[in-house]
Amino acid sequence: MQIRREIRVTGIVQGVGFRPYVFRLAIERGLTGNICNTSAGVTIEIQGPADMVEEFSAQLPAGAPPLARILGLRIQDLPCNGDEEFRIAGSHAGEAVRTLISPDVAVCDDCLAELFDPANRRHLYPFINCTNCGPRFTIVRDIPYDRPRTSMAVFPMCGDCRAEYETPRDRRFHAQPSACWKCGPQLELWDTQGKSLKCPDPVKEAAARLHRGEVVAVKGLGGFHLAADATIATAVELLRRRKHRFGKPLAVMVPDLEAAEFFCEIEPQAKDALASHRRPIVLLPRKPGVAIAEGVAPGQHDLGLFLPYTPLHHLLFAAGQFPALVMTSGNLSEEPIAIDNCEAAARLTGIADAFLVHNREILLRCDDSVVKPIAGCVRQFRRSRGFVPEPLELHKEVPPILAVGGELKNTICLTRGREAFLSQHIGDLENSEGLDFFHEAVEHLQRILEIRPEIIAYDLHIGYLSTQWALAQSGVRLAGVQHHHAHIASCMAENGIDGKVIGLALDGTGYGSDGAVWGGEALVTGYDGFERAGHFGYVPLPGGAAAIREPWRMGVSYLAHTFGADFLGLGIPFTNKLDRQKTETLLQMMKRRVNSPLTSSCGRLFDGVAAVIGLRETVEYEAQAAMELESAALAAPKDAGAYPFSLTREGNAWQIGVRPLFEAIAEDLRKHIRVETISLRFHQGLVEILSRLAERLREDFSLQRICLSGGTFQNQILLTNLLQNLEANGFQVFTHTQVPAGDGGLSLGQALVASSMAPA
Ligand code: ZN
Ligand code: ZN
Ligand code: FE
Repeated sequence: MQIRREIRVTGIVQGVGFRPYVFRLAIERGLTGNICNTSAGVTIEIQGPADMVEEFSAQLPAGAPPLARILGLRIQDLPCNGDEEFRIAGSHAGEAVRTLISPDVAVCDDCLAELFDPANRRHLYPFINCTNCGPRFTIVRDIPYDRPRTSMAVFPMCGDCRAEYETPRDRRFHAQPSACWKCGPQLELWDTQGKSLKCPDPVKEAAARLHRGEVVAVKGLGGFHLAADATIATAVELLRRRKHRFGKPLAVMVPDLEAAEFFCEIEPQAKDALASHRRPIVLLPRKPGVAIAEGVAPGQHDLGLFLPYTPLHHLLFAAGQFPALVMTSGNLSEEPIAIDNCEAAARLTGIADAFLVHNREILLRCDDSVVKPIAGCVRQFRRSRGFVPEPLELHKEVPPILAVGGELKNTICLTRGREAFLSQHIGDLENSEGLDFFHEAVEHLQRILEIRPEIIAYDLHIGYLSTQWALAQSGVRLAGVQHHHAHIASCMAENGIDGKVIGLALDGTGYGSDGAVWGGEALVTGYDGFERAGHFGYVPLPGGAAAIREPWRMGVSYLAHTFGADFLGLGIPFTNKLDRQKTETLLQMMKRRVNSPLTSSCGRLFDGVAAVIGLRETVEYEAQAAMELESAALAAPKDAGAYPFSLTREGNAWQIGVRPLFEAIAEDLRKHIRVETISLRFHQGLVEILSRLAERLREDFSLQRICLSGGTFQNQILLTNLLQNLEANGFQVFTHTQVPAGDGGLSLGQALVASSMAPA
């Protein structure tokens, strides 16, 4: 018996080889009908013997191409007609196209095989791609996703490429960025003046220079990388010095999984993350004694590894046989990554010795993503290339909202129905370059997603450039959202929960509702509001921002808070080494409340502890002291014990006191206990006091659900042990996996809070 069916598929099903896949599926079963792109995805009409149509329907989601993401399948019966073949129909015109653009994808195995096949017409062609792989998000100017609206528009296809493009059975059917030696983009090697070096093989020449210890800027998918041989200490040092990037760890690209396993401990989950087509940087525990230069990640337990993801990366490794290359963002410290050839040559002059460039324009900056497996899940530290612009699914419908994030590690978020689109990593909004990128991202994302926001959500900190931008907009509703409320809402949103929860929001800095600098907060929250139910006790932040760069100031603040004026006589190395004059000035500042706002920050507590135990007096990048404290604790023997904190009720809120902590630390320092042990005891103490606080709040509010958010939860010891403790205590614990726990995930929470706020 013949039947006919209509199947409507929604999700990422355009530009990912879905139509040729369906075409093959149909003709292999002798079925007739058609497939076309629609506003919501694709619609298939399929006709033939009932058992075959049944089999087709069952196989459809199961064998879908790797990049497709099916979010919905709606099936209905139709009357049969006289179709004699299966056709790929054009797009339905007249409808607003609202499909999803795929993230950029690592080169696939089929293309790699062709790349290194001397008989293939794309042998060694650095821009080989197909419907299953290649650039997407970063080459899209506008929608719908078609070649004329990408940066491939300037490369008319040759006859061979066009034939593939038009053949439904071909792997390159409708592969918009498809190209070859004859018709596509080409590589060049430039000198420091931006002049093309006439060399027969730019890749070989670049590899030779890397071998000599030079720094080469390499144009990638979402921006330039600065490359150096990771095994040559002088090359790494040169790169750091020129880039003005001193302590911050550098990412390392290795040729394959085998090389990755040589350098780091890799569990199966981490292996999957490394090898996935998203190709994030994966933070992994490094093995001792490997040949990576010490300067790559000084003081760090982990190494950030990733695998080649463009054909050019593979060619570079093949040409140079490198065991490992530093591949760090092509920028000066803290500026956005460079994407344009001339811009790169200008901005990176003085850093790179040569530029490996090409003429396929990058339309949108997109840094590498960073993940780390912690407590059984791969966690996002920086959600960017390979993930963006894939939407996060919301548990409810929300109005169109633009949330503009915070100040550091900024991302923005746009919502559409039940989808939330988190932008790529925009970075720190502290200078005009950062702000320009922010403007670009706001404009571009709104265009390709066709979203006109009705509400703009922003952080309450009036000093943030994102907040200032939001407040200058007109014709939309504005919604200010408290920083830590947004963190917890972000965790709730990605876990699809509603109602009230206990939220622990731990981070460095957030504008508090009482004017203090918050950062160690226990909130009882829903999307529609929050109550501050507990926090770390206030201490002065002497010098404001200066105290963030100079943890020794926090050391002094906590010791003065704990021991009063007597702390100078503690007889520990930290106090013995203090500059008397500077310390006296600091104490006066705090006493007179000059430029010394009060803070409950957990990040500053890490800084203070790191300073007092002699680990770090000043930092070169955000969270450096905390990361080094964590690395030290990871090197300690297990079961070190835990430091005490106090927990008292002050007014309506619980307060965690740090006096017992610093008394115990001072005691241990006098006993010459190892820094590693002290670090672990501090971490364990935090785990215990936070667990106790959670229990009090469970009693007070009769809540079982608890959300953990804020940058401090990127700390693997804290997250792993607290999660375990709380679960053992019967809590239902929600953590971040899809969006960063840090400020990179803030905009998602802002959007959800704004969606619940009544118009003022
Ligand atoms: Zn491919
Ligand atoms: Zn061609
Ligand atoms: Fe934060």
